[in-house]
Amino acid sequence: MNTDIEIKDLMIHFYTKEGMVKAVDGVDLLLESGKIIGIVGETGSGKSVLGLSILNILADNAKKSGSILYRGKDLLSLDNENIREIRGREISLIPQNPSTAFNPILKIGTQINELYYYHEKETRRSCKIRSLDHLKKFFFNSEERIYNSYNFQLSGGMSQRALTAMGSALNPQWIIADEPTKGLDAVIRKQVYQVFKDLKEEQGVSMLLITHDLMLASRLCDEIIVMYAGKILEKGTSDKVFNNPMHPYTQGLIDAQPSKKLVPLEGIAPSLTNLPTGCRFHPRCKYAKEVCRFEEPQIYTVKGSKVRCYLYDKDSGLKEGI
Ligand code: SF4
Repeated sequence: MNTDIEIKDLMIHFYTKEGMVKAVDGVDLLLESGKIIGIVGETGSGKSVLGLSILNILADNAKKSGSILYRGKDLLSLDNENIREIRGREISLIPQNPSTAFNPILKIGTQINELYYYHEKETRRSCKIRSLDHLKKFFFNSEERIYNSYNFQLSGGMSQRALTAMGSALNPQWIIADEPTKGLDAVIRKQVYQVFKDLKEEQGVSMLLITHDLMLASRLCDEIIVMYAGKILEKGTSDKVFNNPMHPYTQGLIDAQPSKKLVPLEGIAPSLTNLPTGCRFHPRCKYAKEVCRFEEPQIYTVKGSKVRCYLYDKDSGLKEGI
């Protein structure tokens, strides 16, 4: 059965005292299963809200419209009971922060056992066997020790891997991982990379990886989506986006990397309550022209990538000097 996720005209806005925060503002996107798809962009680009909206985990002040289709269902309009059937079993979330994601007063093993007990009606004995067996896949020196630990007893890297183990315990079709390498050192990031690679290659899990870590995204992802101020600006294969970025924002993000030119991206991202007219990137763009200030560019397909910028059009590809 097709397990793609199809997002159509998605808007997620939040009512706040400062005004309406347009976190996701008109996103159309096909997430094809069998791939690891990275979403990159600065803080406040809307990437985490987009990920959370797939599982309908949104704050009460959210105003949502559009649709997120998965196996013939619109995830955005499912009630709590029906979305709970999908969360964890079919689409699982690995949230940003292990210290808030784990229950601090339950051991890691107990928390994984509960998944098998409630979702798969296993006996308590069989839950323990499955949990230990599953933990073995995550490069722990002793899975028994992790099983019997509380989260606060684990290092950052162990905690992140334990969270990934919990997120993948029910063998979901999709995992949405939100900043899985945040705050981790290079050695642990490498381990996390290996864990995700194995999940895809050995368990066939499709993944949406939300990250600031462009190095991880370039090594791990099949496709990259670049978000800015609630919009998608570029989408393409990892190879194309990292080696031949088309959008000026993508170029700036990549040039700012330590492994590239280390040139910081000029300017700051706009307030989501007061977005610029026209192209949202125009106040920071060195190629901006008059049209960019007043009319929002559409997405063009150019050489197999998608890009939202007036420098391109679908017939001629590159329009002018970039
Ligand atoms: Fe720059 Fe204009 Fe392209 Fe926006 S549409 S990125 S302002 S050239």
